[in-house]
Amino acid sequence: MVKELAELKRNDDGELLEESVLWFANRYGCLDQVGGYHNSLSSWDRFSRIFQQVLGALEVEDMKTAMDIYNNFPEPPEVSIGIVGNDFHGQHHRSIRIQPKTLISAMWLMVTDMFTNGVHLQSCENPGCQRWIVERSNKNTCSDACRQALYRKRKQGA
Ligand SMILES: [Zn+2]
Repeated sequence: MVKELAELKRNDDGELLEESVLWFANRYGCLDQVGGYHNSLSSWDRFSRIFQQVLGALEVEDMKTAMDIYNNFPEPPEVSIGIVGNDFHGQHHRSIRIQPKTLISAMWLMVTDMFTNGVHLQSCENPGCQRWIVERSNKNTCSDACRQALYRKRKQGA
């Protein structure tokens, strides 16, 4: 999803194509809540560019540049911060809970995750889908439906 936002199509002047933004919004939703600040086309443009730069730097394994771009972005989306925990046999376990409030803040957290765990993206292997997913050794499709579709296709081809 992050990669798809980064790769939104632009015209020769570098402006985002509206149809490309609509395609993404139809698929995943708006970046912000209804009436939210981050739904303007200029916000789409900024987030698309920043993700393009960060992913580009990650791709060539230039961690320092990627982190600088990410950390110095002037308007990172809002998250909700809380505390979760329980008391178990007199032991207190508390940790920070960070919850995304909007699609763009969820994506912002996904990018954070790429830095902290070295997560890589791959596209869903169902040829009709190719949605971007987090790379895992035991998973090559985005959903059960795609896993079954791929299985059926492979069976037909065999
Ligand atoms: Zn899929």
